[in-house]
Amino acid sequence: MNAPFMEFQHVTKRFGSLTVLDDVNFRIYEGEVTTIIGLSGSGKSVLLKHIIGLLQPDTGVILFEGKPLGDMSPEELKKTLSQVSYMFQGNALFDSLTVYENIALPLRETTSMTKGEIDKRVMARIEQTELTEAAHRYPSELSGGMQKRAALARVLVTDPKIVLFDEPTTGQDPVRKNAILSMIAQYQKKFGFTAILVSHEIPDVYFISNRLLALYQSKIVFQGSPEAFEDFDHPFQTEVIRSLEGLQHELTGMYSKRQFKIQNHARMKRSGNGEGYAVLVHALRDNDFSADAGHGSFEEILKGVQQSIAEYFAAAGGISSRIARNEFVTVLPYSDTSEAETLSSDFVSSMKENNAKGIRLMDNAGNNAGCFKLLVGINQGLPADEIENVIEQARARQKEVARLYCASGEVNQ
Ligand code: ADP
Ligand code: MG
Repeated sequence: MNAPFMEFQHVTKRFGSLTVLDDVNFRIYEGEVTTIIGLSGSGKSVLLKHIIGLLQPDTGVILFEGKPLGDMSPEELKKTLSQVSYMFQGNALFDSLTVYENIALPLRETTSMTKGEIDKRVMARIEQTELTEAAHRYPSELSGGMQKRAALARVLVTDPKIVLFDEPTTGQDPVRKNAILSMIAQYQKKFGFTAILVSHEIPDVYFISNRLLALYQSKIVFQGSPEAFEDFDHPFQTEVIRSLEGLQHELTGMYSKRQFKIQNHARMKRSGNGEGYAVLVHALRDNDFSADAGHGSFEEILKGVQQSIAEYFAAAGGISSRIARNEFVTVLPYSDTSEAETLSSDFVSSMKENNAKGIRLMDNAGNNAGCFKLLVGINQGLPADEIENVIEQARARQKEVARLYCASGEVNQ
C-alpha cells in the first residue's frame, strides 16, 4: 500500500476538562474517500478543524506527506494548507454574489492569479459542474441541487488535493441525500482529489467510502474498509449502528439500505457465477386525477404498501428496502423476470385482502378514480451487474399495476 497522504499520530485535544480527542491515530490515503463516522458531539468537526489548521493538538503530530505540520515554516504551512478545501455544513454561498463571483472568490482572495487566468479556471469549473446557464444568477434563484453544485465548484476551484465535507447531507430528505453523495463521488472520481467526509448518518455514507474511521468516546476505534467494518465486533457497532437499523427494521419491516446491500452481497457470493436475480421497483404515486388526498392518508397507505411488499416478497425469499419516500426495491435471488412478473401479479391480487393495512384496491383500474397509483418496474440482474444500474433500469420500466383508494373509511362504496 502507498505511504499515507496524511496521518494523525497520538493526537490529543482537550477543551478545559473535556477530552475531545484522546490519543487519536489514523491515516488518510491519496485519492480515496475516507469517512469519519461517530455520534453527534463525538468530536468529528474538531478533528476536521485540525486538518485545516484551525485547531492545534495539545499533544501528538499531524503529518502531511510524511512531514509534521508543526515542523513547517510559515510559508510551507501556508502552502500545505492551501491544498485543503473545506465544505462547511450548508452551502455557505454568498447571497449577494452571483454563482460566477462565488466561485471566483477563493481565487481572488488566496492566489495572485490574473483576471484572465481566474476567468478561465472559473468557467472551466462552471462547465464541469453543469452550471453554465446559472453562471450569472444569484444563489436564491437556483434549485437546491444547483446550489450544492455551485458550492462544490467553489470548493474545487483552487484545485485542492484534499476536500473535507462536514455533514454534507444533514437535514436533507433521503432522495436529496443520495443525490449529494453521488455528486461528491462523481466529482471525486473526475477530479481525483482525496475526500474526507464526516457524517453521523451511517448507512447513507457507507457506499461511497473506500475507508471508514469510527470515532467513539474520543478514540478512533476502527479504521478500514466498509467490508471489514461488517465484522467489527465492538460496542460502537452495537450501540450506534444496530440501534439505528433495528429501529428501522422494526418500524417498517424493511431492511435499511446498508443491511440490504450486505444481504444482497452475501447472497451473490453464495450464488456463484451465472446466477441471476430479479429486481422489482415499486412506487406509490398520487393520482393526478383524484381530489386532493391529503398528506395523512398518503403516509398511511405508504406504510401499508411498504409492509405488504416486505412481507409478501420475504415469503418468496426476497429482500426489500425503501429507497425513497415513495419507492421500494425488492431483490429476488435466483429469479428471472417472468417469475417476478408472476409473483408481482399474485402480490397485487393478495393486496385485495389487505384492508387491515389500510389498503383498498379499486376493482376497475381503467378509469381515473382512486387516490393513488401503484407502479412496478421489473428487471433482470446478473452477478456482474452493478445493482444500482439494475435498479435504475427497473425504475425506467415502471408501469401502473393497481389503483388504490384513499385511507380506508374515507371512500363510500
Ligand atoms: P461533532 O462530532 O458533532 O462534530 P464536535 O467536534 O463539534 O462534535 O464537538 C465535540 C465536543 O467538543 C463537543 O462536546 C463540543 O461542545 C466540544 N467543543 C468543540 N469545539 C469547542 C471549542 N472551541 N471550545 C470548547 N469546546 C468545544
Ligand atoms: Mg460536527
